[in-house]
Amino acid sequence: MSTFALAIHGGAGTIPKEDMPPTREKAYRQGLEDALKAGHAVLSAGGAALDAVEAAVRSLEDFPLFNAGRGAVFNADGQHEMDASIMSGVDLRAGAVAGVNNVKNPVGLARLVMDKSGHVLISGQGAFEFAHQMRVPLEDDQYFFDQFRYDQWMKVKGTDAYQLDHSDGGKKFGTVGAVALDINGHLAAATSTGGMTNKRFQRIGDSPIIGAGTYANDASCAISCTGHGESFMRAVVAFDVHALMSYKGLSLAEAVRIVVHDKLPPLDGEGGLIAVDHLGNIVLDFNSSGMYRGQVGADGLFHTAIWR
Ligand code: ASP
Repeated sequence: MSTFALAIHGGAGTIPKEDMPPTREKAYRQGLEDALKAGHAVLSAGGAALDAVEAAVRSLEDFPLFNAGRGAVFNADGQHEMDASIMSGVDLRAGAVAGVNNVKNPVGLARLVMDKSGHVLISGQGAFEFAHQMRVPLEDDQYFFDQFRYDQWMKVKGTDAYQLDHSDGGKKFGTVGAVALDINGHLAAATSTGGMTNKRFQRIGDSPIIGAGTYANDASCAISCTGHGESFMRAVVAFDVHALMSYKGLSLAEAVRIVVHDKLPPLDGEGGLIAVDHLGNIVLDFNSSGMYRGQVGADGLFHTAIWR
């Protein structure tokens, strides 16, 4: 095995093409391309899939147009509560954080949970303490502030409504993620999100849930999801793609098609996912009108897309 592959997403949803000014589309594509470059640099140097997905997701977290890290949506208390996870396909190690504030790169903290904590998922104040112990970079609230997100929140503040990340006049899920295959045949996946605007009760979505929003197994595939988290958890989406491949012998494309187009819609599961298998096949599929996405292989050609 000497090939490698990387795919990324910046969220799926209703993204009306006519409402997207060319300058904004250009900015989104730039954000995607920067993330592809970050992951590609790792993989083309013979690095690990795990390091590549972390590098790509960090880049997406630093980019304010996506709902993760800087640019994360506001919860009902005006805070940014972020969720992230990462998984290694070679040994099924995984790490995740839920409901963390002020951590610059939640995916980096998830990686440390995996490598150093002895746990898989930690949350809230405890996760913040762990972040302190690990000396990960923290940022004040101002760093996470984005006027566009703030205006989104103002529309629903004080109501019971919580909202998936509406943007550009449409319904959009701005979560980010990456999946990769490295030259040693190892797979990895990572996902990071600010969740839903005006979320309450320390709501947690699918993104930090291993098997729901994120999964990687060298025997089959690596998956990162974006969409209506409640539905994605009920459908155990990422693990289901793996299970259809492992237990039923389906191809990656067929397994993804069944989950995204047959299983999710009856559960109100709008969204999509990115996937790579152990041969380097990439599938980027969604049941919404668009998904910010990109891919690169050993040829070094960066491809980005938003609509079908
Ligand atoms: N899946 C995420 C969540 O429910 C939202 C998204 O994909 O944008 O938290």
